[in-house]
Amino acid sequence: DPRLQGISDAIRVVPHFPKPGIMFQDITTLLLDPKAFQDAIDIFVERYRDMDISIVAGVEARGFMFGPAIALAIGAKFVPLRKPGKLPGEVISEDYELEYGNDRLEMHVGAVETGERVMIVDDLVATGGTLSAAIRLLERGGAEVVECGCVIGVPEFKGRRKLAGKPLYILVEPR
Ligand code: 5GP
Repeated sequence: DPRLQGISDAIRVVPHFPKPGIMFQDITTLLLDPKAFQDAIDIFVERYRDMDISIVAGVEARGFMFGPAIALAIGAKFVPLRKPGKLPGEVISEDYELEYGNDRLEMHVGAVETGERVMIVDDLVATGGTLSAAIRLLERGGAEVVECGCVIGVPEFKGRRKLAGKPLYILVEPR
């Protein structure tokens, strides 16, 4: 797809953020490029609009920058998967491991109905720990996770195209 190069070019690499040695993939520059941003949304929309998906679930925070646009374009609902303590209603939660320590994602009880077909979106997949927790959360809610979609995926995942047994769709590799 000729649009992918423009998307990759619009992502900025910030060396040594948030820690020495990390090459941070900064998607805020993609958001500043309406053509590349639109192309990224369009590619997801073209992929998901005919998959009978009724929910797009986005991972806080950068999944929120892509998910709602995809959801509206395919006529789906948007469900935010949030960091602990942010959602006001009753929640279910899933813990996952980070390089140092743990984190947690929460989802409102009742946000999904049994059997609903969901796609999960985030900006980047590295170890897959975050998306794996997201998958567990949606499945505990009774949803069927059709696929996870990410703008950026490390080559290990780009080759494997599977995450916790679910299909994984990636636009570009890290720069
Ligand atoms: P994983 O759980 O797959 O190891 O890490 C993915 C999560 O970490 C995503 O939620 C993503 O937003 C965040 N993340 C890790 N490294 C980067 C990075 O270099 N750039 C961006 N934009 N997000 C990152």
